[in-house]
Formats: sequence, structure tokens, C-alpha cells
Amino acid sequence: MSEATGSVIERLKTSLPDGAVITDPGSMDAYRWDRANDPAAGVPLAVVRATSTEDVQAVVRLAAETGTAVIPRGAGSGLSGGSTAVDGAIVLSLDRMRSISVDADTRMAVVQPGAFNAEVKAAASAHGLWYPPDPSSFEFCSIGGNVATNAGGLCCVKYGVTTDDVLGMTVVLADGRAVRLGGPRVKDVAGLSLTKLFVGSEGTLGVITEVILRLVPPQLPPTTLVAVVPTLEGATGAVIEATRSARP
Ligand SMILES: Cc1cc2nc3c(=O)[nH]c(=O)nc-3n(C[C@H](O)[C@H](O)[C@H](O)COP(=O)(O)OP(=O)(O)OC[C@H]3O[C@@H](n4cnc5c(N)ncnc54)[C@H](O)[C@@H]3O)c2cc1C
Repeated sequence: MSEATGSVIERLKTSLPDGAVITDPGSMDAYRWDRANDPAAGVPLAVVRATSTEDVQAVVRLAAETGTAVIPRGAGSGLSGGSTAVDGAIVLSLDRMRSISVDADTRMAVVQPGAFNAEVKAAASAHGLWYPPDPSSFEFCSIGGNVATNAGGLCCVKYGVTTDDVLGMTVVLADGRAVRLGGPRVKDVAGLSLTKLFVGSEGTLGVITEVILRLVPPQLPPTTLVAVVPTLEGATGAVIEATRSARP
């Protein structure tokens, strides 16, 4: 290990809570790949398991000062290699930041990025509410990852994708500043929508450390209708016709 590398690791350990910094190669392996399984995944300098916005700020500030790359990481379910480690980088895992707080009166939730999509759905459901975005990976992907990739699932045709339910967020910028974008009210929209800019930015613009999500009343019980259409053109036409007057 070079002197410079050793110094970055020491400074990380000094500025972060005990146990937050992992440098043991065996333990770091769990944070090197996502579901893209890139055979060229690198070996990071360290993995940091942040517990707060302040932890994230400390990591990003040190990385900016020392020119060290940072890979934000949610649950590692991505299929495009976005959280794959590169040599000498700091993998910044949000998997320990998982608190969820629901305000049923204003129908919104304040969620830390490491909470799974399924956990947010369950927390909303406990208050008689629903969080619509439903990537197929909802049981094992994080809200931070969903926001960073603007995830959407089958329900997006009717209910939209993640960006449609993000009211605001706290994000740590590349120089370590933490900024709040948007806000808890649907009408917190004055000025350019920086919230929208950060949704789908895949960690390239900053690290999301808190998200404010819109919740909605639960779905009505579904009704299934089966139609047999003899041609592809007919089926397409039927879908277009039906969606002109209803949102199935
Ligand atoms: C079986 C399967 C089914 C899937 N189905 C769908 C689907 O239906 N729809 C869909 O959209 N995707 C789907 N995915 C892909 C994946 O689950 C989503 O992209 C998901 O949103 C990633 O979340 P994650 O927490 O695992 O993020 P990760 O994989 O850890 O990271 C994804 C990207 O977001 C960045 N990132 C993560 N957290 C943060 C943060 N807090 N701040 C800033 N950047 C961050 C990472 O750097 C990376 O670029 C599927 C994947 C699998 C394996």
C-alpha cells in the first residue's frame, strides 16, 4: 500500500464512526459488483458504509481533496454496472441509512436512501397509503438507487416512474456541500426543477442522502378483462381506443 493510499484510509477512519470503513479484501468483495457482474470490476481503496449525511459529506470532501473517485452504491441490483467498483476508488454504500418516516396527513414519506422499495411500500401501507413505483427488483433495490436511475416497473404506464413521486431530496455535491431540493409540499416547485435534474443522474451529480416521496391512496381492487383480437393491428387499435377514455 502506498503512503498516499494509507493516508486516505487513515483520514477516512478518523473522520467516520467506528466500523464505517472496510478495507479487508474479503469483506469488500460484497461491494465490488452489481447485477451486471462485470468481470473487470476493480478493487476499491475502501468501502465506506455511511450512517448519515455528515458521513457522506466527510467522504466526498476527502475524495475531492485527494482526487479519489467515489462510487455511490445502493443495493447493487443495477444491471448496467453503475455501482461496479473501480481500482483505487471509495465505494460509498448507503445500505445502513434506512430510516422511513411517513406523514399520513400530508401523504408523504421522508426516506433515507438505503431503505428498500418494498420497505417504503410496507411503511406506506401501514398508514393506508401506497407508494406506486414498482421496479421488478422492488424487494431488493434501494430507494436511493431507484431515484438515481429513475426506476419504473409495470405500473409506470398508469402511475408514472420514480420521478413522478419524488417531491424533494437532500444531496451531497462533489465539493461536500449538502443541499435540499424541492420540499414536502406538491407546490414546492419555485424555480428550475433541480430535483428532476438529480433524478436519473446515476450518482454523477451528487450523492442522495434523503428523499421526500409522495404517497397516494391505495389502488382500487383490480378488475381483469380479457379480449380476444384476431390481428396485431386490431389489438394495437383496441389499446389506443381504450386508453383514450380510461387508464387501465
Ligand atoms: C431481476 C431484476 C429486475 C429489475 N427490474 C427493474 C425494473 O423493472 N425497472 C427498473 O427501472 N430497474 C430494474 N432493475 C434494475 C435495478 O434494480 C434498478 O436500477 C434499481 O433502481 C437499482 O437500485 P439499487 O439500490 O440496487 O442501486 P445500485 O445498483 O446500487 O446503483 C444504481 C446506480 O445508482 C447510483 N446510486 C445508488 N444509490 C445512490 C445514491 N444514494 N445517490 C446517488 N447515486 C446512487 C449508483 O452509483 C449506480 O449508478 C432490475 C434489476 C434486477 C436484478
